[in-house]
This record gives sequence, C-alpha cells and structure tokens, in this order.
Amino acid sequence: MKRYLVKPKSLVDLSTHDPRDSGAFDGGKKEGRDHLAKLVARLEELQEVLYAENRHRVLVVLQAMDTGGKDGTIRSVFGPLNPQGVRVASFKVPTPEELAHDFLWRIHKQTPRHGEIAVFNRSHYEDVLVVRVRSLMPESVWSKRYERINAFERILAEEGTTILKFFLHIDLAEQKERFQARIDEPAKRWKFNTADLKERKLWPEYVRAYEDALSKTSTKHAPWYIIPANRKWYRNIAVATVVLHTLEGLGMEYPKPAFDPAAIVIE
Ligand code: AMP
Ligand code: MG
Repeated sequence: MKRYLVKPKSLVDLSTHDPRDSGAFDGGKKEGRDHLAKLVARLEELQEVLYAENRHRVLVVLQAMDTGGKDGTIRSVFGPLNPQGVRVASFKVPTPEELAHDFLWRIHKQTPRHGEIAVFNRSHYEDVLVVRVRSLMPESVWSKRYERINAFERILAEEGTTILKFFLHIDLAEQKERFQARIDEPAKRWKFNTADLKERKLWPEYVRAYEDALSKTSTKHAPWYIIPANRKWYRNIAVATVVLHTLEGLGMEYPKPAFDPAAIVIE
C-alpha cells in the first residue's frame, strides 16, 4: 500500500492516480470480499489489544468528493469493530457556536482518547476545501491554514496520537453513476441533495484544492494516502490494509496482570 502514500513535500497531481486501480487483485469482487473479511478479523483482534492496553490513540481521517465512499468505508472497515473502542465524528456545516471559535476547536474535542480509534467523516480539511472552493473565507484566511493544520497534527502526534489520512479517490463518471443511483433507488434518496450537483460543477476547483491540501499536509507523523475508490471492495481492502499495518507497527501487548494467575484459587 506504500504506493498510495503521499510522500512528504511531494506535489500531488490527481490525474496520475487511477481511481479504478485494484492493485494485485484480479479476482474481482468475490475474492476481494473474502480478503476483506480476513483483514477485518485481524483488525478486530488488534483493536481488542488497543482497547485493553489503553495506551495508544488512533485517528483516521476520511475525505472524499461527494459519493466518494466515506460512509461505506466506515460501515465496511470500522463497522465490524467493537463499538466501545471506535468513535465516528462527522463534521457538517459549522454551527454558529463552532464558527464563533477557531476552526480547530470543534476538531480537537473529537480527537481520540487512550485505547480509542476515532474516525473522522470529513474533518478540519473542509476548512481548506469547501471553504476555499466556495470562498466562505478570503484567501488570506484559508491559505494560512495548511501550516496550522500541520502544527496541530504535530502536537497530536507528539502527544501520542497515531494519525492516518485517506483521500478516497473516484472520478467524475463514477460520481455520476452514484448520484444517479441515489436518485433512482428509494432507499438512497435521503442521501441526495439537489445542491450536490452545484458542488459537482465545481469538480475541477475541488481537484485543485485537494491537490494542494494533499501536497502541503502529508507529513511523516500524519501521512495522506490516495486510495483508488471507484471499486468499493478494493477501497475497503486498501484502507483496511493500511490501518492494519499501522496497528501491527505499534507493538501493542495485553497489559501484564497485577496478580499471579497461578497463585489464585477461586473457592
Ligand atoms: P454530508 O457529509 O453529506 O452530510 O454533508 C456535510 C456538508 O457539510 C458538506 O457539504 C460539507 O462540505 C459541509 N462542511 C463540512 N465542514 C465544513 C466547514 N468547515 N465549512 C463549511 N462547510 C462544511
Ligand atoms: Mg452529502
């Protein structure tokens, strides 16, 4: 999955990243689903140790264009985990109370505690994406935020939070199909908003904003991964694999018991 990593200080050109890529998986959906089940089973084991050890904090940031698959990734990759140790935070249009504070105020409150995985469905990156594309703030404001985001994430990392950031990369044609499905299928209509089509018209502007954000904020302590996301099953595998390898790398262990198991007799 290293090839999806955005190297710090590299310049991202999304047109060179194929959203239809499915890596070494040529067996398709079925093989993909079986593989995901194995990854998720191992993730469940690791999460149990993370929770028991109560020492590490894990933050997963999910960003994507509309229909990019943030909800589906949360359901398929993190849904099977123990809900006691996973928390999802969704960031919507800021409330007046949130807008009355600095842009990181609402974000910091949702960062993970010890033993917890926090999954951000959208994040502080909206403040250099929709805010930039929609000119919700002048350039003089949003352009200074990349550095502030890096500083903020550095604080979290140095204080012991492991950070992973995923951009779920789909193309325009795939988005069209997914919007169409939201219109055609009654059970999906609640997800569709006619305003979404206005955002779609701004696709090139969003691409530029994403390229800038990915280029400027992928760091060693808080790396971005550009995940090919046209194929949902592969997107899930790619995200699960990166999370899995990261958790494996933490060297977690169940805490040593404060008693000698051999010396205890229960009458
Ligand atoms: P959804 O994810 O479909 O529920 O939509 C959430 C909406 O909130 C999206 O249109 C985001 O662009 C918007 N949003 C999230 N964060 C911000 C922000 N900081 N400023 C403005 N809009 C935001
Ligand atoms: Mg939406």
